[in-house]
Amino acid sequence: MLTVEQVKQVLTGLASWAEDLMIDFQLSEEQKALIETARRFTKEQIIPIAAECDRDSKFPMHVFKQAWEIGLVNTTCPAEYGGAALGELENALMSEELAYGCSGIQTSILANVLALTPIKLAGNEEQKKKYLGMLTSEPIMASYATTEPGAGSDVAGLTTRFTRHGDDFVLNGQKCWITNASYARFYVVFATSDPSLRHKGIAAFIVDRDLPGLRPGKKEDKLGQRASDTAVVHLDDVKVPKANLLAPEGAGFKLAMETFNQTRPDIAAGAAGVMRRALDESVAYAKERKTFGVPIAQHQLIQAMLAEMAIRLEATRLLYMKAAHNLDSGVRDPIVSSYAKAFGADAAMATTIDAVQIFGGNGYVKEYPVEKLMRDAKVLQIYEGTSQIQRLVIARSLLA
Ligand SMILES: Cc1cc2nc3c(=O)[nH]c(=O)nc-3n(C[C@H](O)[C@H](O)[C@H](O)COP(=O)(O)OP(=O)(O)OC[C@H]3O[C@@H](n4cnc5c(N)ncnc54)[C@H](O)[C@@H]3O)c2cc1C
Repeated sequence: MLTVEQVKQVLTGLASWAEDLMIDFQLSEEQKALIETARRFTKEQIIPIAAECDRDSKFPMHVFKQAWEIGLVNTTCPAEYGGAALGELENALMSEELAYGCSGIQTSILANVLALTPIKLAGNEEQKKKYLGMLTSEPIMASYATTEPGAGSDVAGLTTRFTRHGDDFVLNGQKCWITNASYARFYVVFATSDPSLRHKGIAAFIVDRDLPGLRPGKKEDKLGQRASDTAVVHLDDVKVPKANLLAPEGAGFKLAMETFNQTRPDIAAGAAGVMRRALDESVAYAKERKTFGVPIAQHQLIQAMLAEMAIRLEATRLLYMKAAHNLDSGVRDPIVSSYAKAFGADAAMATTIDAVQIFGGNGYVKEYPVEKLMRDAKVLQIYEGTSQIQRLVIARSLLA
């Protein structure tokens, strides 16, 4: 039995512990202003053209350039290289807004962050000055390339080879599914000295687009996110100067994984944007559409779907914010990024399927916006590590 004095001590201890752990769900004025800017940009520049870009599978370069002009591209690039040096949380908040308009366009705008992150993490001063400087001095794109026809989930199974050529390197192989590959000015390419070494053989290189032997290839005709560019990159005897070695042999795999740890919260944030759009469209439609003499919003089974959508959206928000906040606070915990990515992607898929259901037959045609949301959501469960791979990351950490 505790004495009164002991109870007081425990309560005092708890109070100071709670102070240390103070969780603040309020956004700063700067974060609110960023959201406002991205929201206005989405409303004025993205939503009006999203359906056309989806139909024609066309990336709106002028929108990318406008986004770059107002600072919505390369957001996490450090200030010394011309960037806005925003945190991962700000980047994620912005991603949610852009994805509300079109997650294909959002993916293309965000792909530069995927390419600049490994340079930020592992680049030397000259590499950062040159390549991050290029991204911030003009509206150009860069791509990140791990995936190959024979190696997607199994990154350590990649077979693009590098061989030494004097002090330099020669790259041979093929990358596929590379976002913005048709337009990128440079690529962060992961390659191996010997595929049998698996992760121990992998290095990373910054490869300029204009090097002889590098050729962007076939552009994919996708189910969703059709506004984003996804293409093959051929590497045939590409001579890469030694100055462009980003991570030496044996360090490339870890760099690829650390990059995903940093960028997965953005995928979850994009999922939140898609869900918020699906929910808004569904609420508006449910109030309008009548069956059995009343708006369908009055049917409790419709209400249940709307409520589930809102729960999933809020839970995804909390997860992506925690994952991004962790990264900004220097906490390296890939498991939270994987929680956010896995939950957010699955939640967006379920939510957009529900949105199509609420629209009935109208949900199944392109005249209404929700079938696009459903097609767009699917890839969230696939890229940057499938939903299965996120679960493997989580389970591995639990069982370690
Ligand atoms: C639109 C789009 C954009 C992309 N952008 C990029 C990019 O910019 N850069 C880049 O490098 N890549 C990119 N990718 C590639 C993407 O990361 C891969 O498609 C993804 O990692 C899955 O690899 P895969 O397609 O080879 O599928 P596979 O690895 O062949 O997987 C097939 C299925 O098997 C499951 N599976 C695989 N292994 C296991 C396991 N051990 N246990 C249980 N299930 C398993 C998977 O979850 C999946 O369901 C993009 C892909 C798409 C579709």
